Amino acid sequence: MQFQDLAMVYEELEKTASRLEMTSILATLFKQADCKTLHRMIYLTQGQLYPDFYPQKLGMADRLLLKTLSMSSGMKDDDIQELWLKEGDPGIVAQKVFAVKKQRTLFSEALTLDRVYENLEKIAGSEGSGSQDVKMKLLAEILNDASAEEAKFISRMVTGHMRLGVAAMTVVDALALAFASKEDRDAIERAFNISSDLGKVGETLCRNGIDAIRQMQVEVGSPMRAMLAERLPSPQEILVRMGGKAAFEYKYDGVRVQAHIRDGKIQLFSRRLEDLTEQFPDVVKALKASFRMKSAIVEGECVPVDLNTGELLPFQEVSHRRGRKHGLQDAIEDYPVRVFLFDCVYLDGKDMTQMPYPERRKALESAFEKTEEARFSEMRIYDNVDGVEEFFKEALKDGCEGLMAKSVDENSFYRAGSRGFLWIKYKKEYRSEMTDTVDLVVVGAYAGRGRRAGNYGALLMATYNDQEDVFETVCKLGSGFDDATLAALPQKLEAHKLKEKHPKVVSKMEADYWFEPSMVLEVLGAEITVSPIHTTAYGLVRKDSGLAVRFPRFTGRFRDDKEPREATTSKELEQMYSKQLKKVES
Ligand code: AMP
Repeated sequence: MQFQDLAMVYEELEKTASRLEMTSILATLFKQADCKTLHRMIYLTQGQLYPDFYPQKLGMADRLLLKTLSMSSGMKDDDIQELWLKEGDPGIVAQKVFAVKKQRTLFSEALTLDRVYENLEKIAGSEGSGSQDVKMKLLAEILNDASAEEAKFISRMVTGHMRLGVAAMTVVDALALAFASKEDRDAIERAFNISSDLGKVGETLCRNGIDAIRQMQVEVGSPMRAMLAERLPSPQEILVRMGGKAAFEYKYDGVRVQAHIRDGKIQLFSRRLEDLTEQFPDVVKALKASFRMKSAIVEGECVPVDLNTGELLPFQEVSHRRGRKHGLQDAIEDYPVRVFLFDCVYLDGKDMTQMPYPERRKALESAFEKTEEARFSEMRIYDNVDGVEEFFKEALKDGCEGLMAKSVDENSFYRAGSRGFLWIKYKKEYRSEMTDTVDLVVVGAYAGRGRRAGNYGALLMATYNDQEDVFETVCKLGSGFDDATLAALPQKLEAHKLKEKHPKVVSKMEADYWFEPSMVLEVLGAEITVSPIHTTAYGLVRKDSGLAVRFPRFTGRFRDDKEPREATTSKELEQMYSKQLKKVES
Protein backbone atom coordinates (compact mmCIF):
# COMPACT_ATOMS: atom_id res chain seq x y z
CA MET A 1 0.00 0.00 0.00
CA GLN A 2 1.16 3.52 -0.81
CA PHE A 3 1.81 5.62 2.25
CA GLN A 4 0.14 8.57 0.51
CA ASP A 5 -3.19 6.67 0.58
CA LEU A 6 -2.80 6.02 4.28
CA ALA A 7 -1.95 9.69 4.89
CA MET A 8 -5.15 10.73 3.12
CA VAL A 9 -7.14 8.40 5.38
CA TYR A 10 -5.45 9.93 8.41
CA GLU A 11 -6.47 13.37 7.15
CA GLU A 12 -10.06 12.16 7.03
CA LEU A 13 -9.88 10.61 10.49
CA GLU A 14 -8.47 13.79 11.90
CA LYS A 15 -11.49 15.74 10.72
CA THR A 16 -14.04 13.68 12.62
CA ALA A 17 -14.75 13.04 16.28
CA SER A 18 -17.58 10.63 15.57
CA ARG A 19 -16.77 7.06 16.54
CA LEU A 20 -19.22 5.74 13.96
CA GLU A 21 -17.59 7.72 11.18
CA MET A 22 -14.11 6.68 12.29
CA THR A 23 -15.24 3.05 12.31
CA SER A 24 -16.51 3.29 8.78
CA ILE A 25 -13.36 5.06 7.48
CA LEU A 26 -11.14 2.44 9.13
CA ALA A 27 -13.23 -0.50 7.91
CA THR A 28 -12.89 0.74 4.32
CA LEU A 29 -9.15 1.09 4.84
CA PHE A 30 -8.75 -2.38 6.40
CA LYS A 31 -10.66 -3.99 3.53
CA GLN A 32 -8.15 -2.65 1.02
CA ALA A 33 -5.20 -3.89 3.06
CA ASP A 34 -3.06 -6.86 2.35
CA CYS A 35 -3.40 -9.30 5.30
CA LYS A 36 0.38 -9.41 5.50
CA THR A 37 0.68 -5.72 6.33
CA LEU A 38 -2.61 -5.12 8.14
CA HIS A 39 -0.95 -5.36 11.54
CA ARG A 40 1.49 -2.59 10.60
CA MET A 41 -1.36 -0.40 9.48
CA ILE A 42 -3.20 -0.96 12.74
CA TYR A 43 -0.19 -0.15 14.91
CA LEU A 44 0.68 3.00 12.93
CA THR A 45 -2.90 4.24 13.15
CA GLN A 46 -2.49 4.15 16.90
CA GLY A 47 0.89 5.87 16.69
CA GLN A 48 2.75 2.67 17.52
CA LEU A 49 5.00 0.12 15.87
CA TYR A 50 4.12 -2.79 18.10
CA PRO A 51 1.49 -3.82 20.63
CA ASP A 52 1.45 -1.81 23.87
CA PHE A 53 3.44 -4.34 25.83
CA TYR A 54 6.54 -4.16 23.62
CA PRO A 55 9.19 -2.11 25.34
CA GLN A 56 10.42 -0.43 22.19
CA LYS A 57 8.62 2.85 21.54
CA LEU A 58 8.83 5.70 19.08
CA GLY A 59 9.73 9.01 20.66
CA MET A 60 12.47 10.81 18.78
CA ALA A 61 13.38 14.17 20.34
CA ASP A 62 11.62 17.11 18.68
CA ARG A 63 14.92 18.90 18.12
CA LEU A 64 16.28 15.95 16.09
CA LEU A 65 13.19 16.02 13.93
CA LEU A 66 13.54 19.76 13.33
CA LYS A 67 17.18 19.29 12.34
CA THR A 68 16.24 16.52 9.92
CA LEU A 69 13.45 18.64 8.45
CA SER A 70 15.98 21.36 7.79
CA MET A 71 18.40 18.90 6.20
CA SER A 72 15.90 17.34 3.89
CA SER A 73 13.99 20.49 2.92
CA GLY A 74 16.90 22.89 2.66
CA MET A 75 15.02 25.38 4.86
CA LYS A 76 17.14 27.23 7.41
CA ASP A 77 17.25 25.95 11.02
CA ASP A 78 16.12 29.32 12.37
CA ASP A 79 13.08 29.48 10.13
CA ILE A 80 12.03 26.00 11.14
CA GLN A 81 12.57 26.87 14.79
CA GLU A 82 10.35 29.91 14.39
CA LEU A 83 7.66 27.81 12.78
CA TRP A 84 7.94 25.32 15.62
CA LEU A 85 7.48 28.05 18.23
CA LYS A 86 4.41 29.27 16.40
CA GLU A 87 2.76 25.91 15.67
CA GLY A 88 3.98 23.64 18.47
CA ASP A 89 2.96 20.56 16.48
CA PRO A 90 5.66 18.58 14.67
CA GLY A 91 3.16 17.46 12.04
CA ILE A 92 2.04 20.96 11.06
CA VAL A 93 5.65 22.21 11.01
CA ALA A 94 6.64 19.37 8.67
CA GLN A 95 3.60 19.89 6.47
CA LYS A 96 4.33 23.61 6.08
CA VAL A 97 8.02 23.02 5.43
CA PHE A 98 7.25 20.39 2.81
CA ALA A 99 4.53 22.44 1.15
CA VAL A 100 7.16 24.97 0.05
CA LYS A 101 9.80 22.33 -0.59
CA LYS A 102 10.64 21.36 -4.15
CA GLN A 103 8.13 18.92 -5.61
CA ARG A 104 9.17 15.30 -5.68
CA THR A 105 11.79 14.78 -8.35
CA LEU A 106 11.77 12.19 -11.07
CA PHE A 107 14.26 10.21 -9.06
CA SER A 108 12.29 10.01 -5.88
CA GLU A 109 10.71 6.73 -5.11
CA ALA A 110 7.12 6.75 -3.87
CA LEU A 111 6.79 5.76 -0.23
CA THR A 112 5.05 2.55 0.66
CA LEU A 113 3.62 1.73 4.07
CA ASP A 114 6.25 -0.99 4.44
CA ARG A 115 9.12 1.33 3.66
CA VAL A 116 7.98 3.92 6.18
CA TYR A 117 7.31 1.26 8.82
CA GLU A 118 10.67 -0.42 8.38
CA ASN A 119 12.59 2.84 8.68
CA LEU A 120 10.61 3.82 11.76
CA GLU A 121 11.37 0.41 13.20
CA LYS A 122 15.09 0.92 12.66
CA ILE A 123 14.87 4.40 14.21
CA ALA A 124 13.18 3.02 17.33
CA GLY A 125 15.77 0.27 17.54
CA SER A 126 18.94 2.33 17.24
CA GLU A 127 20.61 3.02 20.55
CA GLY A 128 23.93 4.07 21.99
CA SER A 129 26.64 6.37 20.75
CA GLY A 130 26.17 7.68 17.23
CA SER A 131 22.51 6.64 17.26
CA GLN A 132 21.31 10.23 16.84
CA ASP A 133 23.00 10.49 13.46
CA VAL A 134 21.68 7.09 12.44
CA LYS A 135 18.15 8.09 13.41
CA MET A 136 18.34 11.35 11.47
CA LYS A 137 19.70 9.58 8.41
CA LEU A 138 16.93 6.97 8.46
CA LEU A 139 14.31 9.66 8.89
CA ALA A 140 15.78 11.80 6.12
CA GLU A 141 15.65 8.81 3.78
CA ILE A 142 11.88 8.64 3.98
CA LEU A 143 11.26 12.38 4.33
CA ASN A 144 13.24 13.02 1.13
CA ASP A 145 10.59 11.12 -0.79
CA ALA A 146 7.61 12.40 1.17
CA SER A 147 4.76 14.68 0.14
CA ALA A 148 3.57 17.37 2.58
CA GLU A 149 0.81 15.11 3.99
CA GLU A 150 3.15 12.16 4.30
CA ALA A 151 5.76 14.33 6.05
CA LYS A 152 3.10 15.53 8.48
CA PHE A 153 2.19 12.05 9.68
CA ILE A 154 5.71 10.65 9.59
CA SER A 155 6.82 13.54 11.81
CA ARG A 156 4.01 12.93 14.28
CA MET A 157 4.68 9.19 14.37
CA VAL A 158 8.40 9.46 14.87
CA THR A 159 8.07 11.90 17.77
CA GLY A 160 5.26 9.93 19.39
CA HIS A 161 2.56 12.56 18.77
CA MET A 162 0.25 10.70 16.42
CA ARG A 163 -2.94 11.20 18.46
CA LEU A 164 -5.60 10.51 15.86
CA GLY A 165 -8.00 9.74 18.67
CA VAL A 166 -8.70 6.22 17.43
CA ALA A 167 -9.47 4.15 20.52
CA ALA A 168 -8.66 0.43 20.57
CA MET A 169 -12.38 -0.36 20.73
CA THR A 170 -12.96 1.66 17.54
CA VAL A 171 -10.40 -0.54 15.79
CA VAL A 172 -12.26 -3.59 17.14
CA ASP A 173 -15.53 -2.20 15.70
CA ALA A 174 -13.86 -1.52 12.36
CA LEU A 175 -12.38 -5.03 12.17
CA ALA A 176 -15.83 -6.50 12.77
CA LEU A 177 -17.30 -4.29 10.06
CA ALA A 178 -14.53 -5.10 7.58
CA PHE A 179 -14.14 -8.85 8.04
CA ALA A 180 -17.04 -10.24 10.05
CA SER A 181 -20.42 -9.08 11.35
CA LYS A 182 -21.81 -7.06 14.23
CA GLU A 183 -22.58 -10.28 16.11
CA ASP A 184 -18.91 -11.23 15.97
CA ARG A 185 -17.73 -8.03 17.58
CA ASP A 186 -17.59 -9.44 21.13
CA ALA A 187 -15.45 -12.35 20.00
CA ILE A 188 -13.03 -9.91 18.40
CA GLU A 189 -12.96 -7.81 21.55
CA ARG A 190 -12.24 -10.88 23.63
CA ALA A 191 -9.38 -11.83 21.31
CA PHE A 192 -7.92 -8.36 21.86
CA ASN A 193 -8.42 -8.55 25.62
CA ILE A 194 -6.61 -11.85 25.99
CA SER A 195 -3.75 -10.94 23.63
CA SER A 196 -3.49 -7.13 24.07
CA ASP A 197 -2.42 -7.18 20.43
CA LEU A 198 -4.77 -5.54 17.91
CA GLY A 199 -2.30 -6.16 15.08
CA LYS A 200 -2.30 -9.87 15.70
CA VAL A 201 -6.10 -9.95 16.01
CA GLY A 202 -6.47 -8.04 12.72
CA GLU A 203 -4.07 -10.26 10.84
CA THR A 204 -5.64 -13.47 12.18
CA LEU A 205 -9.11 -12.25 11.24
CA CYS A 206 -8.01 -11.15 7.78
CA ARG A 207 -6.17 -14.37 7.03
CA ASN A 208 -8.24 -17.04 8.77
CA GLY A 209 -11.64 -15.56 9.55
CA ILE A 210 -13.79 -15.30 12.65
CA ASP A 211 -13.50 -18.96 13.65
CA ALA A 212 -9.77 -18.53 14.13
CA ILE A 213 -10.52 -15.51 16.33
CA ARG A 214 -12.91 -17.54 18.46
CA GLN A 215 -10.22 -20.13 18.93
CA MET A 216 -7.56 -17.69 20.06
CA GLN A 217 -6.21 -18.50 23.49
CA VAL A 218 -4.15 -16.76 26.09
CA GLU A 219 -0.50 -17.33 25.39
CA VAL A 220 2.53 -17.42 27.62
CA GLY A 221 4.62 -14.33 26.84
CA SER A 222 1.69 -12.27 25.63
CA PRO A 223 0.12 -10.37 28.55
CA MET A 224 -3.64 -10.16 28.74
CA ARG A 225 -5.56 -7.09 29.76
CA ALA A 226 -6.45 -7.34 33.42
CA MET A 227 -9.92 -8.16 34.71
CA LEU A 228 -11.28 -5.32 36.84
CA ALA A 229 -13.75 -5.01 39.68
CA GLU A 230 -16.88 -2.97 40.32
CA ARG A 231 -17.46 -1.43 43.73
CA LEU A 232 -20.39 -1.70 46.15
CA PRO A 233 -20.65 -0.04 49.57
CA SER A 234 -21.92 -2.92 51.72
CA PRO A 235 -21.70 -6.69 52.11
CA GLN A 236 -25.52 -6.88 51.86
CA GLU A 237 -25.48 -5.37 48.39
CA ILE A 238 -22.56 -7.53 47.35
CA LEU A 239 -24.22 -10.73 48.48
CA VAL A 240 -27.49 -9.82 46.76
CA ARG A 241 -25.65 -9.03 43.55
CA MET A 242 -23.70 -12.28 43.76
CA GLY A 243 -26.85 -14.40 44.23
CA GLY A 244 -26.50 -14.89 47.99
CA LYS A 245 -23.03 -16.39 48.12
CA ALA A 246 -19.54 -15.39 47.03
CA ALA A 247 -15.88 -15.95 47.63
CA PHE A 248 -14.19 -13.12 49.52
CA GLU A 249 -10.48 -12.49 49.26
CA TYR A 250 -8.24 -10.04 51.06
CA LYS A 251 -7.73 -6.98 48.91
CA TYR A 252 -3.99 -6.40 49.16
CA ASP A 253 -2.57 -2.94 48.69
CA GLY A 254 0.34 -3.64 46.38
CA VAL A 255 1.38 -3.96 42.77
CA ARG A 256 -0.57 -6.32 40.54
CA VAL A 257 1.58 -8.72 38.56
CA GLN A 258 0.77 -11.17 35.83
CA ALA A 259 3.34 -13.96 35.80
CA HIS A 260 3.98 -15.91 32.60
CA ILE A 261 5.82 -19.13 33.31
CA ARG A 262 7.23 -21.66 30.86
CA ASP A 263 10.01 -24.19 31.25
CA GLY A 264 11.53 -22.48 34.23
CA LYS A 265 11.46 -19.04 32.63
CA ILE A 266 9.30 -16.36 34.22
CA GLN A 267 8.22 -13.00 32.89
CA LEU A 268 6.25 -10.51 34.98
CA PHE A 269 3.90 -7.88 33.59
CA SER A 270 2.19 -4.98 35.32
CA ARG A 271 -1.49 -4.09 35.10
CA ARG A 272 -0.46 -1.65 32.37
CA LEU A 273 1.37 -4.48 30.59
CA GLU A 274 4.89 -3.18 31.27
CA ASP A 275 7.57 -5.78 31.81
CA LEU A 276 8.41 -5.86 35.54
CA THR A 277 10.70 -8.92 35.46
CA GLU A 278 13.90 -6.98 36.13
CA GLN A 279 12.39 -5.07 39.03
CA PHE A 280 11.26 -8.14 40.92
CA PRO A 281 13.96 -10.82 40.66
CA ASP A 282 12.97 -11.95 44.16
CA VAL A 283 9.39 -12.57 43.04
CA VAL A 284 10.65 -14.47 40.01
CA LYS A 285 12.79 -16.60 42.30
CA ALA A 286 9.96 -17.18 44.76
CA LEU A 287 7.54 -18.26 42.02
CA LYS A 288 10.12 -20.51 40.44
CA ALA A 289 10.72 -22.24 43.74
CA SER A 290 7.05 -22.87 44.45
CA PHE A 291 5.75 -23.72 40.95
CA ARG A 292 5.09 -27.43 40.39
CA MET A 293 3.95 -27.59 36.76
CA LYS A 294 5.39 -26.77 33.32
CA SER A 295 3.65 -23.60 32.21
CA ALA A 296 1.13 -21.13 33.55
CA ILE A 297 -0.22 -17.61 33.54
CA VAL A 298 -1.18 -16.47 37.01
CA GLU A 299 -2.01 -13.21 38.72
CA GLY A 300 -1.10 -11.94 42.13
CA GLU A 301 -0.40 -8.85 44.18
CA CYS A 302 3.16 -8.00 45.29
CA VAL A 303 3.16 -6.39 48.70
CA PRO A 304 6.20 -5.07 50.59
CA VAL A 305 6.66 -6.42 54.10
CA ASP A 306 8.56 -5.28 57.15
CA LEU A 307 10.53 -8.37 58.10
CA ASN A 308 10.81 -7.15 61.68
CA THR A 309 7.16 -6.66 62.39
CA GLY A 310 5.80 -9.03 59.77
CA GLU A 311 3.42 -6.23 58.76
CA LEU A 312 2.49 -5.41 55.21
CA LEU A 313 3.78 -2.00 54.14
CA PRO A 314 2.37 0.63 51.78
CA PHE A 315 2.99 -0.29 48.20
CA GLN A 316 4.91 2.98 47.67
CA GLU A 317 7.81 1.24 49.41
CA VAL A 318 8.20 -0.84 46.27
CA SER A 319 8.63 2.29 44.20
CA HIS A 320 12.14 2.56 45.64
CA ARG A 321 12.98 -0.16 43.16
CA ARG A 322 11.75 1.64 40.10
CA GLY A 323 14.34 2.63 37.57
CA ARG A 324 17.14 1.18 39.66
CA LYS A 325 19.77 -0.77 37.83
CA HIS A 326 22.50 -0.31 40.41
CA GLY A 327 21.64 -0.87 43.98
CA LEU A 328 18.66 -3.03 43.06
CA GLN A 329 20.01 -5.73 45.34
CA ASP A 330 20.06 -3.30 48.30
CA ALA A 331 16.56 -2.16 47.48
CA ILE A 332 15.40 -5.78 47.43
CA GLU A 333 16.90 -6.36 50.86
CA ASP A 334 15.52 -3.14 52.27
CA TYR A 335 12.08 -3.53 50.70
CA PRO A 336 11.35 -7.24 50.44
CA VAL A 337 8.02 -8.23 48.94
CA ARG A 338 5.64 -11.14 49.21
CA VAL A 339 3.43 -12.22 46.35
CA PHE A 340 -0.18 -13.22 47.04
CA LEU A 341 -1.50 -15.23 44.08
CA PHE A 342 -5.19 -14.88 43.30
CA ASP A 343 -5.95 -16.24 39.84
CA CYS A 344 -4.80 -18.74 37.24
CA VAL A 345 -5.87 -18.26 33.62
CA TYR A 346 -3.65 -20.82 31.90
CA LEU A 347 -2.08 -24.03 33.07
CA ASP A 348 -0.02 -26.60 31.18
CA GLY A 349 -1.48 -25.92 27.74
CA LYS A 350 -5.02 -25.23 28.93
CA ASP A 351 -6.70 -21.82 28.55
CA MET A 352 -8.77 -21.41 31.72
CA THR A 353 -10.35 -18.01 31.03
CA GLN A 354 -13.68 -19.69 30.22
CA MET A 355 -13.72 -21.74 33.40
CA PRO A 356 -15.53 -20.61 36.57
CA TYR A 357 -13.57 -18.99 39.38
CA PRO A 358 -13.73 -21.94 41.82
CA GLU A 359 -12.05 -24.19 39.27
CA ARG A 360 -9.38 -21.64 38.48
CA ARG A 361 -8.69 -21.19 42.19
CA LYS A 362 -8.39 -24.96 42.62
CA ALA A 363 -5.97 -25.12 39.70
CA LEU A 364 -3.96 -22.25 41.18
CA GLU A 365 -3.64 -23.99 44.53
CA SER A 366 -2.59 -27.23 42.86
CA ALA A 367 0.05 -25.54 40.73
CA PHE A 368 2.02 -23.88 43.53
CA GLU A 369 3.36 -24.86 46.87
CA LYS A 370 2.73 -22.23 49.52
CA THR A 371 5.99 -20.73 50.75
CA GLU A 372 7.00 -17.78 52.93
CA GLU A 373 7.52 -15.61 49.83
CA ALA A 374 4.79 -16.90 47.52
CA ARG A 375 1.34 -17.41 48.97
CA PHE A 376 -2.30 -17.50 47.97
CA SER A 377 -4.62 -14.61 48.71
CA GLU A 378 -6.62 -15.25 51.89
CA MET A 379 -10.01 -16.50 50.70
CA ARG A 380 -13.24 -17.62 52.31
CA ILE A 381 -16.70 -18.28 51.00
CA TYR A 382 -19.61 -16.54 52.76
CA ASP A 383 -23.35 -16.42 52.43
CA ASN A 384 -23.99 -14.10 55.39
CA VAL A 385 -23.26 -10.47 56.15
CA ASP A 386 -21.82 -11.03 59.64
CA GLY A 387 -19.20 -13.43 58.34
CA VAL A 388 -18.13 -10.94 55.68
CA GLU A 389 -17.92 -8.08 58.23
CA GLU A 390 -15.71 -10.21 60.49
CA PHE A 391 -13.45 -11.14 57.58
CA PHE A 392 -13.30 -7.49 56.53
CA LYS A 393 -12.02 -6.56 60.00
CA GLU A 394 -9.39 -9.25 59.80
CA ALA A 395 -8.31 -7.92 56.41
CA LEU A 396 -7.86 -4.41 57.85
CA LYS A 397 -5.99 -5.81 60.82
CA ASP A 398 -3.63 -7.59 58.47
CA GLY A 399 -2.81 -4.39 56.59
CA CYS A 400 -5.17 -4.88 53.64
CA GLU A 401 -7.47 -2.34 52.03
CA GLY A 402 -10.59 -4.41 52.38
CA LEU A 403 -12.08 -7.35 50.52
CA MET A 404 -12.53 -8.44 46.94
CA ALA A 405 -15.70 -10.43 46.39
CA LYS A 406 -15.62 -12.93 43.56
CA SER A 407 -18.55 -14.67 41.98
CA VAL A 408 -18.62 -18.46 42.37
CA ASP A 409 -21.34 -18.81 39.77
CA GLU A 410 -20.95 -21.29 36.92
CA ASN A 411 -20.40 -18.35 34.57
CA SER A 412 -17.75 -16.68 36.71
CA PHE A 413 -15.23 -16.63 33.87
CA TYR A 414 -12.08 -14.55 33.72
CA ARG A 415 -13.19 -11.48 31.74
CA ALA A 416 -9.92 -9.98 30.55
CA GLY A 417 -9.98 -6.21 30.13
CA SER A 418 -13.44 -5.69 31.50
CA ARG A 419 -14.88 -4.18 34.64
CA GLY A 420 -17.92 -6.03 35.85
CA PHE A 421 -19.84 -7.41 38.81
CA LEU A 422 -18.13 -10.81 38.77
CA TRP A 423 -15.56 -9.12 41.01
CA ILE A 424 -16.71 -6.48 43.49
CA LYS A 425 -14.43 -4.53 45.78
CA TYR A 426 -15.46 -3.59 49.26
CA LYS A 427 -13.23 -1.02 50.87
CA LYS A 428 -14.75 1.38 53.30
CA GLU A 429 -12.74 4.53 53.62
CA TYR A 430 -12.03 4.06 57.32
CA ARG A 431 -8.77 5.85 56.81
CA SER A 432 -7.58 9.40 57.16
CA GLU A 433 -4.40 11.06 56.03
CA MET A 434 -1.89 12.06 58.68
CA THR A 435 0.01 15.30 58.38
CA ASP A 436 1.09 15.98 61.98
CA THR A 437 3.53 14.03 64.09
CA VAL A 438 2.36 12.39 67.31
CA ASP A 439 4.28 11.63 70.51
CA LEU A 440 3.83 8.01 71.48
CA VAL A 441 4.90 5.98 74.48
CA VAL A 442 6.95 2.78 74.26
CA VAL A 443 5.09 0.01 76.09
CA GLY A 444 6.54 -3.14 74.54
CA ALA A 445 9.00 -4.52 72.01
CA TYR A 446 9.53 -7.38 69.61
CA ALA A 447 12.74 -9.33 69.02
CA GLY A 448 14.52 -8.40 65.78
CA ARG A 449 15.09 -10.74 62.86
CA GLY A 450 17.62 -10.76 60.01
CA ARG A 451 19.79 -7.68 60.20
CA ARG A 452 18.15 -6.73 63.49
CA ALA A 453 18.76 -10.06 65.23
CA GLY A 454 19.91 -9.38 68.79
CA ASN A 455 18.23 -5.97 68.86
CA TYR A 456 14.61 -4.95 68.97
CA GLY A 457 12.93 -5.32 65.61
CA ALA A 458 10.00 -3.08 66.49
CA LEU A 459 8.47 -1.25 69.43
CA LEU A 460 4.86 -1.41 70.57
CA MET A 461 3.63 2.17 70.91
CA ALA A 462 0.71 3.69 72.79
CA THR A 463 -1.29 6.87 73.23
CA TYR A 464 -2.39 8.09 76.66
CA ASN A 465 -6.05 7.91 77.61
CA ASP A 466 -6.27 10.79 80.07
CA GLN A 467 -9.83 10.02 81.10
CA GLU A 468 -9.11 6.53 82.30
CA ASP A 469 -5.42 7.03 82.99
CA VAL A 470 -4.28 4.12 80.81
CA PHE A 471 -2.00 3.68 77.81
CA GLU A 472 -3.66 2.31 74.69
CA THR A 473 -1.70 0.67 71.88
CA VAL A 474 -1.71 2.36 68.50
CA CYS A 475 1.02 0.83 66.29
CA LYS A 476 4.14 -1.27 65.97
CA LEU A 477 7.04 1.01 65.17
CA GLY A 478 9.95 -0.45 63.18
CA SER A 479 10.93 2.25 60.68
CA GLY A 480 13.02 5.37 60.91
CA PHE A 481 15.76 4.04 63.23
CA ASP A 482 19.37 4.26 62.13
CA ASP A 483 21.68 1.40 63.13
CA ALA A 484 23.27 3.22 66.07
CA THR A 485 19.93 4.26 67.58
CA LEU A 486 18.62 0.76 67.20
CA ALA A 487 21.67 -0.76 68.85
CA ALA A 488 21.34 1.62 71.81
CA LEU A 489 17.65 0.91 72.47
CA PRO A 490 17.94 -2.24 74.63
CA GLN A 491 20.24 -0.47 77.04
CA LYS A 492 18.09 2.67 77.11
CA LEU A 493 15.00 0.64 77.91
CA GLU A 494 16.65 -1.84 80.29
CA ALA A 495 15.73 0.05 83.42
CA HIS A 496 12.04 0.02 82.48
CA LYS A 497 11.81 -3.65 81.51
CA LEU A 498 9.02 -5.68 83.13
CA LYS A 499 8.25 -9.36 83.40
CA GLU A 500 4.72 -8.79 82.14
CA LYS A 501 2.47 -6.14 80.75
CA HIS A 502 2.20 -3.00 82.89
CA PRO A 503 -1.23 -2.78 84.57
CA LYS A 504 -1.83 0.64 83.02
CA VAL A 505 -1.27 -0.67 79.48
CA VAL A 506 -4.34 -1.80 77.58
CA SER A 507 -3.30 -4.12 74.80
CA LYS A 508 -4.88 -6.86 72.75
CA MET A 509 -1.46 -7.73 71.38
CA GLU A 510 1.23 -9.85 72.91
CA ALA A 511 4.78 -8.42 72.95
CA ASP A 512 8.12 -10.19 73.43
CA TYR A 513 9.16 -7.59 76.02
CA TRP A 514 7.06 -5.27 78.16
CA PHE A 515 8.09 -1.91 79.59
CA GLU A 516 6.84 0.52 82.15
CA PRO A 517 5.52 3.46 80.10
CA SER A 518 8.38 5.94 80.20
CA MET A 519 10.05 6.69 76.88
CA VAL A 520 8.26 9.03 74.44
CA LEU A 521 9.13 9.08 70.75
CA GLU A 522 8.03 11.42 67.99
CA VAL A 523 6.33 9.49 65.21
CA LEU A 524 4.92 10.34 61.81
CA GLY A 525 2.51 7.99 60.09
CA ALA A 526 0.93 7.94 56.66
CA GLU A 527 -2.62 7.73 57.92
CA ILE A 528 -4.86 6.90 60.84
CA THR A 529 -7.03 3.87 60.28
CA VAL A 530 -9.65 1.90 62.10
CA SER A 531 -8.09 -1.21 63.55
CA PRO A 532 -9.61 -4.06 65.51
CA ILE A 533 -6.28 -4.98 67.13
CA HIS A 534 -5.28 -1.65 68.63
CA THR A 535 -6.99 -0.18 71.66
CA THR A 536 -6.64 3.58 71.16
CA ALA A 537 -10.08 5.22 71.22
CA TYR A 538 -11.64 1.77 71.25
CA GLY A 539 -15.26 1.72 70.15
CA LEU A 540 -15.36 5.47 69.57
CA VAL A 541 -15.22 5.46 65.78
CA ARG A 542 -16.36 1.95 65.14
CA LYS A 543 -17.80 -0.81 67.27
CA ASP A 544 -15.18 -3.38 68.32
CA SER A 545 -12.33 -1.36 66.84
CA GLY A 546 -9.72 1.11 67.89
CA LEU A 547 -7.52 3.45 65.87
CA ALA A 548 -4.06 2.75 64.50
CA VAL A 549 -1.28 4.84 63.02
CA ARG A 550 -0.51 3.15 59.75
CA PHE A 551 3.07 2.99 58.39
CA PRO A 552 4.60 4.76 61.39
CA ARG A 553 8.16 6.11 61.19
CA PHE A 554 10.37 7.42 64.03
CA THR A 555 11.33 11.00 63.19
CA GLY A 556 14.61 10.62 65.11
CA ARG A 557 13.40 12.79 67.98
CA PHE A 558 13.33 11.34 71.50
CA ARG A 559 10.84 13.42 73.46
CA ASP A 560 12.89 13.29 76.66
CA ASP A 561 11.20 16.56 77.54
CA LYS A 562 7.88 14.79 77.88
CA GLU A 563 6.49 12.59 80.60
CA PRO A 564 4.53 9.59 79.31
CA ARG A 565 1.33 11.22 80.56
CA GLU A 566 2.10 14.18 78.32
CA ALA A 567 2.10 12.02 75.20
CA THR A 568 -0.56 12.40 72.52
CA THR A 569 -3.87 11.39 74.03
CA SER A 570 -6.29 8.87 72.61
CA LYS A 571 -8.87 11.66 72.34
CA GLU A 572 -6.45 13.79 70.32
CA LEU A 573 -5.83 10.93 67.92
CA GLU A 574 -9.55 10.42 67.53
CA GLN A 575 -9.94 14.13 66.74
CA MET A 576 -7.11 13.99 64.21
CA TYR A 577 -8.80 11.03 62.59
CA SER A 578 -12.20 12.71 62.35
CA LYS A 579 -10.87 16.07 61.21
CA GLN A 580 -8.73 14.62 58.48
CA LEU A 581 -11.38 12.19 57.39
CA LYS A 582 -13.66 15.15 56.74
CA LYS A 583 -10.96 16.77 54.65
CA VAL A 584 -10.54 13.61 52.60
CA GLU A 585 -14.29 13.33 52.10
CA SER A 586 -14.74 16.95 51.06
P1 AMP B 1 -8.71 -0.98 42.47
O1 AMP B 1 -7.30 -0.68 42.01
O2 AMP B 1 -9.09 -0.30 43.73
O3 AMP B 1 -9.71 -0.85 41.36
O4 AMP B 1 -8.73 -2.52 42.85
C1 AMP B 1 -8.35 -3.51 41.95
C2 AMP B 1 -6.95 -3.96 42.26
O5 AMP B 1 -6.89 -4.62 43.52
C3 AMP B 1 -6.45 -5.03 41.31
O6 AMP B 1 -5.97 -4.48 40.12
C4 AMP B 1 -5.34 -5.68 42.10
O7 AMP B 1 -4.13 -4.99 41.87
C5 AMP B 1 -5.73 -5.43 43.55
N1 AMP B 1 -6.00 -6.65 44.34
C6 AMP B 1 -5.58 -6.83 45.60
N2 AMP B 1 -5.98 -8.00 46.09
C7 AMP B 1 -6.68 -8.62 45.11
C8 AMP B 1 -7.36 -9.86 45.01
N3 AMP B 1 -7.41 -10.73 46.03
N4 AMP B 1 -7.97 -10.15 43.83
C9 AMP B 1 -7.94 -9.28 42.80
N5 AMP B 1 -7.31 -8.09 42.84
C10 AMP B 1 -6.69 -7.75 43.98
